[in-house]
Amino acid sequence: KPSAAEAPDRLPFSRVTQEDLAFFRKTLLGRAITDSDFLESSNVDWLKSVKGSSEVLLRPQNTKEVSQVLRYCNSRNLAVTPQGGNTGLVGGSVPVYDEIILSTALMNNILAFDNISGILTCQAGCVLENLSLYLEERDYIMPLDLGAKGSCQIGGNVATNAGGLRLLRYGSLHGTVLGLEVVLADGRVLDCLSTLRKDNTGYDLKQLFIGSEGTLGVITAVSILCPRKPKSVNLVFLGCETFEQLLKTFQLCRGMLGEILSAFEFLDSECMRLLNTHLKLPNPISDCPFYIVIETSGSNPTHDGQKLHNFLEEAMTSSLVTDGTVATEESKIKALWSMRERITEALTHDGFNYKYDISLPVERIYQLVTDMREHLGDQAKSVVGYGHIGDGNLHLNITSPAKDPALLGAIEPFVYEWTARCKGSISAEHGLGLKKRNYIYYSKSSQAVALMGNIKAILDPKGILNPYKTLPDALK
Ligand code: FAD
Repeated sequence: KPSAAEAPDRLPFSRVTQEDLAFFRKTLLGRAITDSDFLESSNVDWLKSVKGSSEVLLRPQNTKEVSQVLRYCNSRNLAVTPQGGNTGLVGGSVPVYDEIILSTALMNNILAFDNISGILTCQAGCVLENLSLYLEERDYIMPLDLGAKGSCQIGGNVATNAGGLRLLRYGSLHGTVLGLEVVLADGRVLDCLSTLRKDNTGYDLKQLFIGSEGTLGVITAVSILCPRKPKSVNLVFLGCETFEQLLKTFQLCRGMLGEILSAFEFLDSECMRLLNTHLKLPNPISDCPFYIVIETSGSNPTHDGQKLHNFLEEAMTSSLVTDGTVATEESKIKALWSMRERITEALTHDGFNYKYDISLPVERIYQLVTDMREHLGDQAKSVVGYGHIGDGNLHLNITSPAKDPALLGAIEPFVYEWTARCKGSISAEHGLGLKKRNYIYYSKSSQAVALMGNIKAILDPKGILNPYKTLPDALK
């Protein structure tokens, strides 16, 4: 199985017995699944690159059930993998061996929404898109949006500290999440489900769980600050001849669009080729080496339209961009967004994917793609670059017709050493999961990683929560 090569040996956890199953069946009444067809999809990640062999999928409906299950698993030394929408890209959401899968899919109730403050409180299994639809009816939006919105869950988003397409405007979940309820490994319920914007009473414990990838506790409920739905949204799709021009356009755009800028994304011509070839999405403008997606959101269509017009005029007359199109209607906005959002999907049709999610100083972002192409020569099928320019986040993706250990050897550690030299991060938003755990030292000091190990030992002394993930196999 693919994961074994990348994983350490199975740790000495107990194996699930008939008595264990009897306990789960009694506690969860029909929601302890052992049917192999049902388990098949929960054992494999979205990229189909990691496969576990769990024989039990548990589907609790509330915090009490999560607590009962974890208390039991901890006492029996049974390992558990928390799972949300299973759209994670680093192999964190599926078991490596026979860990019990604890799914939050049935914990999908909205608990409260305050129409004045815009604070939403919900269970962890709510699907992001459903939350967005709920809020839009009330004139609000979620502060995050990502291509996987139709499947990913808010608990998974928090557990991975997902970034996505709106981070530039609304900031990271470390700022917008106001409170969390978490069940610890031994079943204790940690109630930090505050709905306050300001609360300096001691350590902000919820922050520990944001981005902890299921290794410190199971998030069962989230409260989050939501922005008002903008009255005016525009989307612009532009083409540039060089990456330098793209960066200058970014600078110009920040200056001229100011507070209404809500996204600044890019893709290169190789991404466009894959969108055309695999998804039959036509290029909405003429062919260019680089494309930019700019979104504005504001409260006054005339004001926003005027600002955008001035910006586009300046960008065109100073020859920073060579072609472009603007959308104000929802259907055209969606169509243009899909050019950015569906690149991940187009890549899966191109072959086996090697995915890198890197934070870099913005002016260095594309150099890594160029250097990687030169370094790999014709060993790779495609080498593409896209991502969140506004956040300094590059998605570098490399494909090959099939899994290719020689190609992997050429990519790594080259990509990590390159990133470390620029003091970048080897995981900007996807986390470390199973695949990247041992590369943590390229972006974190050994003191920092050792302290992470101490925190893990306090919160989960038996290490039952998502073993083999996030922390390196051997702590230096
Ligand atoms: P899962 O994949 O189920 O789990 C992810 C991790 O969180 C695992 O380690 C799991 O154990 C843990 N976990 C899940 N739920 C809980 C819980 N309740 N408590 C504790 N731990 C839990 N990511 C971005 O950051 N930005 C993007 O723009 C982006 N775009 C994407 C586009 C596509 C098409 C796809 C497929 C993925 C994309 N991702 C992106 C990655 C992924 O969608 C996010 O990481 C997402 O937040 C994962 O949510 P999930 O519910 O699917 O979690």
